[in-house]
Amino acid sequence: MTLLTFRFAPSPNGELHLGHAYSALLNQQLAANVGARLLLRIEDIDTTRCTPEFETGIYRDLEWLGLRWEEPVRRQSEHFDEYRAALDRLIAEELVYPAFMSRGDIRAFISERERRGRDWPRDPDGVPIYPAIDKTLSLKEREARMAEGTPFAWRLDVAAALSRLDHDLSWTEFGDTTLSAANRVEARPQDWGDIILARRDIPTSYHLSVVMDDALQGVTHIVRGMDLFHATSVQRLLQNVLGLPQPGYFHHKLILGPDGRKLSKSLKDTGLAALRTGGTSPEEIRQMIGL
Ligand code: GLU
Repeated sequence: MTLLTFRFAPSPNGELHLGHAYSALLNQQLAANVGARLLLRIEDIDTTRCTPEFETGIYRDLEWLGLRWEEPVRRQSEHFDEYRAALDRLIAEELVYPAFMSRGDIRAFISERERRGRDWPRDPDGVPIYPAIDKTLSLKEREARMAEGTPFAWRLDVAAALSRLDHDLSWTEFGDTTLSAANRVEARPQDWGDIILARRDIPTSYHLSVVMDDALQGVTHIVRGMDLFHATSVQRLLQNVLGLPQPGYFHHKLILGPDGRKLSKSLKDTGLAALRTGGTSPEEIRQMIGL
């Protein structure tokens, strides 16, 4: 029998807020309900935005809330070699290509198209899809640019990856917190275009490291915010091309701020540290988020 495993995976690029408290405590509750393990993972690949102070804050806030997790905690910044090995496989299988357009190039390309009266397609987050023109570069030209030291990111060739599937791509989405009933949701990775798998400055990306780690850590249940629902499409495709097992998903409701908007890490009044130092108890936090 597989051991059921849940995880909470924050990024130390800001302070935790009520939305994180909900996600962490919901994971704890659901894991406890089924006698599963609960892991904490620190998603700190972006070494420019993540800081040791924010990481310390995460441990302090979660402990205060009453969360307990297994040690040692996996910190993604210590595993770049593993992500690089997965990327190398995708390079060898020609499922990724070097993308040389800078953000400025992309903006200029798209506004030129839009000036000519054509709306450029956007991904589910509203970001313009990458104009995949580097895909048509000859091997010689690619190699020349790389040898010249032109900066590039590795992007997934979504069409190539999809063409290798021998079945439909979907995932199991649990219907509610009882995790008893589930639906199959069709994955639509093409809606994201050719996403970045390794950034110019970082040898991996959120999507690549998250699917690698969920597999390496034996995660069976991914309970996270609704804001990552559509990202699951990309992650299912990656799991498929990398031959990784597929976990079940539950994308929970988001805790909204008083203005009805999603909480952000800059909203100090809903930050857990500010609430704690202002005298709010963990019990009151649970009441505030309805757990
Ligand atoms: N590290 C991501 C975040 O803080 C969450 C990743 C996930 O749960 O898949 O938004």
